[in-house]
Amino acid sequence: MAPTPFRVIRGTATGKPNGEPTDAEIAESLRRGERQAELEAWNRFSPGAAQTLRRLLGPGPDREDLLQEVFLRFYKRIGTLREPAAVRGFLFGICVRVVQGELVGRHRRRWLRLTPTGEPPETAREVPNERTGLCASCQHSETVTSVRGSTFSLCRLSASDPRFPKYPPLPVLACDGYARQR
Ligand code: SF4
Repeated sequence: MAPTPFRVIRGTATGKPNGEPTDAEIAESLRRGERQAELEAWNRFSPGAAQTLRRLLGPGPDREDLLQEVFLRFYKRIGTLREPAAVRGFLFGICVRVVQGELVGRHRRRWLRLTPTGEPPETAREVPNERTGLCASCQHSETVTSVRGSTFSLCRLSASDPRFPKYPPLPVLACDGYARQR
């Protein structure tokens, strides 16, 4: 008899009327290294991940490649997922990191493209920082250090414009108030 795909993760204790595995069950199967779970995970999570990439980056021809990159990292790092039920958040975090890398790469490519004379047209500070994003090169940003030595990115625009939080969630990937440092 031919083996049944996803035999291990389709249990009766899924709690779902149609017998489909839960997100956590798929994550657990992946963590156990069950190769067939990779396809199940792709079918279950790739539409949401693709939507996240579109939301963060807008439409573009390279989205499929980025989605593949997300899932390669997802499969590779699934062993570090502590709570299987949080698998969607885990995957979302990977999407964000892939997008950050893509944005940094784009700025670097633009930076290189715009140097016909070999002279850098922009300062290196324009390359978004992976931790803070655009705030790293924004003239409204101020780095503040707590008494414990932690550093925070403070947005000075917040003092005059309520649209901007004093301590924006980082990294800031898009911002209407961004103004390049001179
Ligand atoms: S205006 Fe935007 S990019 Fe500039 S510091 Fe504030 S949040 Fe960051």
